[in-house]
Amino acid sequence: MAKTIAIVNQKGGVGKTTTCVNLAAALTEAGQRVLLCDFDPQANSTSGMGVDKTVSKGVYDALIGEIPVEDAVVHTKYGDVLPSNKALAGAGVELIAMDRREFLLKDALARLKDRYDFLFIDCPPSLELLTLNALCAADSILVPVQGEYYALEGLSDLMNTVRIVRRSLNPQLELDGVLLTMFDGRTNLALQVAEEVKHYFPGKVYATVIPRNVRLSEAPSHGKPITAYDRTSRGAEAYTAFAAEFLKKQSA
Ligand code: ADP
Ligand code: MG
Repeated sequence: MAKTIAIVNQKGGVGKTTTCVNLAAALTEAGQRVLLCDFDPQANSTSGMGVDKTVSKGVYDALIGEIPVEDAVVHTKYGDVLPSNKALAGAGVELIAMDRREFLLKDALARLKDRYDFLFIDCPPSLELLTLNALCAADSILVPVQGEYYALEGLSDLMNTVRIVRRSLNPQLELDGVLLTMFDGRTNLALQVAEEVKHYFPGKVYATVIPRNVRLSEAPSHGKPITAYDRTSRGAEAYTAFAAEFLKKQSA
């Protein structure tokens, strides 16, 4: 039975998609059965896994019950992908009128759970209905945090939302961990933010940090995870180490 992990932070550009793609690929390489569900209408993790984002069938069609979810799954060398496409952009409004509107993703993914070890949901940069669906479908959340001044401010809004979701919609939802991304250990600011994040989430911050690495930002335009694009880069090393730490934690 797959463990479902939502990769979430309502701030854009903090490394959610990069983490989702590269963690999925590194775990696939380590022999895990992985599905990446791209739940952002931008579809960056879809294309980052080498899947055409103009696909006709995607997570949206499964969400509204138009197709069986398994029909939308695309197999890749780097792991399976449930693609997103533009149709998801209008979904936030459309879903409001539907029954079980917060549980549509959970219901759609339920049919896939016994086929995988891990199911990752790449969330859009908001705390609205799509993200709420991800939080209701997930067993835990993984929060990428960039070392910058306003990082903590956003995290308290996120954790408030998580508390509300636990109270009413998904009492089992756990915090898997926090991953420091685009980290530059040479700057005082980055070190200071890291300290604050560790203080705010005691025991929850991954020891592996992801450095800023230009190869990580180049890989998506080649439709490849970093391990396939440049295995010897610092980015590839970091995500491989993170995947190992992640895996160890899940079995602990
Ligand atoms: P999000 O999904 O949270 O919006 P992304 O993963 O798309 O964030 O990252 C935002 C941008 O930063 C992208 O262009 C991505 O390629 C780049 N990026 C992400 N992580 C790194 C990193 N560690 N080093 C360099 N560039 C990165
Ligand atoms: Mg993204």
